[in-house]
Amino acid sequence: MFARTYVPQGATILTEFPVIVVPRDIMIKEIVGSVAGLDEARSQGELIDALVSCLDSQLKKEMFTLKDCSGSPNATTLSGIFSTNALDIELKVNATLPKSAKHMYKALFLQTSRCNHSCGPNAVWKFDSSTFALTLVAVRAIRPGEEITISYINSFLPRHLRRAQLQSEWKFTCHCTHCDIPWSFPGAIAQSDRARHELSTFFKKLPDWEQWCFDEKNEMDLIGMHLRAMQLREEEGLEGFKDGGATGHWTDVAYMKHIDALVMCFGALADVQGFRKWVNKAREVKLAEGPNSVSHVKVLDSWLKEPKKFYVWGWKA
Ligand SMILES: [Zn+2]
Repeated sequence: MFARTYVPQGATILTEFPVIVVPRDIMIKEIVGSVAGLDEARSQGELIDALVSCLDSQLKKEMFTLKDCSGSPNATTLSGIFSTNALDIELKVNATLPKSAKHMYKALFLQTSRCNHSCGPNAVWKFDSSTFALTLVAVRAIRPGEEITISYINSFLPRHLRRAQLQSEWKFTCHCTHCDIPWSFPGAIAQSDRARHELSTFFKKLPDWEQWCFDEKNEMDLIGMHLRAMQLREEEGLEGFKDGGATGHWTDVAYMKHIDALVMCFGALADVQGFRKWVNKAREVKLAEGPNSVSHVKVLDSWLKEPKKFYVWGWKA
């Protein structure tokens, strides 16, 4: 999938609904029976065939144009297409099901499935169970003609493990710009692996903001830590993910957490210049997010106008 126009950081690229949703632990007998109306547990293939038969012909056609990495290149099957492309989503729909399968489902989305993988993706997706819709969001600005990519795996893993997982599950060797690092710099791969590991635990190891703010003896350079993490995220293309374990799915885009933290720090220090700089950055992203963020932008505007009205202004000054 490629961008036709410029997409600002934070903007929604697309919103879509799944065409097929099945419980992830599909082999549990009672689930298969309840979902497909089958009398007994059957193979995943039969279940997917049964579900696809309910789709209209156009959707079926579109589904057949998706990739199947499960078997030989000439033997595309519906269950192969499903297992190659389906995303993990959470739905709290049936509290009576066994615990392991209660909330986790696999869902097929026809448009997002067309996004290739990158270990430094420029987009992340989020599924909202209340609207039953997936939203694909740009985690950095995307130029016209640039490919839109998501991550299929935990991108905080070192390169050899990322490549091994992609090879095993999707049958390709990743040649994204973060895997094909030029060999002219011998330590580059180890450096990238270290940066990813550092970022994977950044928020878990971060000192408490209030402790930083109120403890006069605390000389922790919280601002420096956030700025360094943001720089590492830019270099590694990990603006979208908070910590390890994340796949293409996000709940909290990491760069916004850094921006919010910097606004708080500069506000507490009563540093007008630093405060305005990061409030403006937050405003830029919120504007790109669209109509849902209008009230948030208004609040940011009021702080730009009168920084002293910021709720922790000068607490550490
Ligand atoms: Zn890669």
